[in-house]
Amino acid sequence: MPLSVLEAGPVLPPPSSLLEMEELFGHPFTDPEFEEKHITRIPVTIAGGKTVTIACHVAVAARMARVFQKLKAENALGLIKTYDGCFNIRKVRGGNRPSLHAWGLAIDLNAGQFPLGSTQHQNAVLVRAWTAEGFFNGSKFHRPDPMHFQYSANAM
Ligand SMILES: [Zn+2]
Repeated sequence: MPLSVLEAGPVLPPPSSLLEMEELFGHPFTDPEFEEKHITRIPVTIAGGKTVTIACHVAVAARMARVFQKLKAENALGLIKTYDGCFNIRKVRGGNRPSLHAWGLAIDLNAGQFPLGSTQHQNAVLVRAWTAEGFFNGSKFHRPDPMHFQYSANAM
């Protein structure tokens, strides 16, 4: 999908609660048409010139695409060794709260090097590129998840 089309989509601020999340971005756990209504697919380039397709919420597709374009312009795509998932209707691993992956609003990168629970930090250039577009890095979670970037104003 051309970026111009994506930019015509809704521009929504990063939500700060699960209630806001459902009001703004839909109901993945109860709406059987959620994927059809809200999820789009964008091809992006990562390390080694490899192309991967990200399934994400249409409201953040342009933002996500911009992060990859910015990293490419900074010759920093090598910082994304692996793409490890985005849209996935599920709860937080080992927990009862819904994961932002359920809305297609969270992306995991470099999972092998930065797994759930790791206190290591991803490269600052990579983290800045995501936070500049409104994504919160999971390294700041109570249980650190440095591979994870989610479109939210806080840890929720
Ligand atoms: Zn994640």
